[in-house]
Amino acid sequence: MPECIFCMIIRGKRPCTKVYENDDMMAFMDNKPITNGHVLLIPKKHTELLTEMDDRLAGEMLIVAKKVGLAIKKSKLNCRGINYILADGAEAGQDIFHVHMHIIPRYRGDGFGLRMPQREDEETSEERLERIAVKIRKGAGIHI
Ligand SMILES: [Zn+2]
Repeated sequence: MPECIFCMIIRGKRPCTKVYENDDMMAFMDNKPITNGHVLLIPKKHTELLTEMDDRLAGEMLIVAKKVGLAIKKSKLNCRGINYILADGAEAGQDIFHVHMHIIPRYRGDGFGLRMPQREDEETSEERLERIAVKIRKGAGIHI
């Protein structure tokens, strides 16, 4: 099985243009950017899914995402906003199975957007929402 491309980047076997690095995380320029300044943020420890990461690293990832986002905002890229996108699983659009977050600066008229399906016209009943919430809480053994 070929080595994960992000692990190859972390080990220096593939080139990348780094933006930020610490003991646990690395952020580098996406070489096929969606917009100017598109950065990828990855944990150095290979983990396929966010939901498999240990809590400390998952928290660290968001802290580093904030640092990179702040750097982008303060830069001369002059973006008007930032999307932080993490696809967790193939159905969510994950293409490389090493946790990664896209940090995508947004510009007026950049052509990028998130497409949402048509929402239901009526609000979902509280009973139905509660049944779904019970399933989610049971999934994690959450008691409130
Ligand atoms: Zn990997």
